[in-house]
Amino acid sequence: MKTLMLNENDIEQAARIIKNGGLVAMPTETVYGLAANALDGKAVAKIFKAKGRPMDNPLIVHISDISQIYSLVSEFPEKAKILADKFWAGPLTIILPKSKIIPDEVSAGLDTVAVRFPSNEIARKLISLSMPLAAPSANLSGSPSPTNARHVRDDMNGRIDAIIDGGECEVGVESTVITLATDIPRLLRPGGITVEQLREAIGEVIIDDAVLNPLKSGERAASPGMKYKHYAPKAHIILLEGSDEDFIRYVNEHKVDGTAALCYDEDVEKLEVPNIPIGHADDYEMQSHKLFSSLRNADEQGFKTVYAHCPKTDGMGLAVYNRIIRAAGFEVIEI
Ligand code: AMP
Ligand code: MG
Repeated sequence: MKTLMLNENDIEQAARIIKNGGLVAMPTETVYGLAANALDGKAVAKIFKAKGRPMDNPLIVHISDISQIYSLVSEFPEKAKILADKFWAGPLTIILPKSKIIPDEVSAGLDTVAVRFPSNEIARKLISLSMPLAAPSANLSGSPSPTNARHVRDDMNGRIDAIIDGGECEVGVESTVITLATDIPRLLRPGGITVEQLREAIGEVIIDDAVLNPLKSGERAASPGMKYKHYAPKAHIILLEGSDEDFIRYVNEHKVDGTAALCYDEDVEKLEVPNIPIGHADDYEMQSHKLFSSLRNADEQGFKTVYAHCPKTDGMGLAVYNRIIRAAGFEVIEI
């Protein structure tokens, strides 16, 4: 299959591809998504094939108008309305009991559906010219999510119908996922909307264990995506947990060819190994913006081992931590 490279002037063409059951990668404010008609199980099945994604990992349905949610869910409770009102359009996904029109391919057989209203103009226009779109991140399953069109092309060329180039994604990590299908709202994935913001809006929100920890063997994942290896480049990522000084000392003591540091901007002048800075220590927005392209960059430079400076876990730091610890396969060295 030839993959067309499109831009913001070609959205009508992209909408036609979607209506014909095809796959289009689109920019969103979080990461690039691989979109198909969310109401067509056959079209959705192609997403799993193109990504090599396990069929039991459900997809997020993207809308471009709040009124679209009523046909997708069987309940739209007060807390969901508050969150939608406050954080949509934006990087928040809300899980609710699904309606009958959601194909099993989308919900992976669960009785819930994940819904998001992205703020990116290209994504919104594509949805409004077609229909609600099921869209996971537009990378090969397991690898770092794409934050520009080149990343998508590197993974998906020849596997999908088209890619719309909309430049760099602002947020850089996937949406925050919260389920309201439980008695107490539960954060399943941290992202651009923080747990602090969610609690301020609707009160108690539990952070699911899988946000910070690996699943114990035999444990059932509340969010199936969290049980898989994720976001991992080819390089071996190791998270170093300790003080800022210990990070520098440890990395400098372990300099061998092929080793690099994923670090804060402040670390650069103290490090004696090649390094990929992802922003200032307290600039969580920049760190999240640069994280996935930095992981891809590590592979482009051929690094074999990358020591990552452990992120803090308040605010958006939790999203950065959640991605890095998965990219590291939960390999942490306390230094
Ligand atoms: P992706 O779109 O690849 O970033 O992944 C979407 C994430 O949302 C995955 O971690 C899924 O497991 C999760 N997800 C989607 N739908 C549901 C659902 N109905 N219940 C729980 N988690 C979901
Ligand atoms: Mg993904």
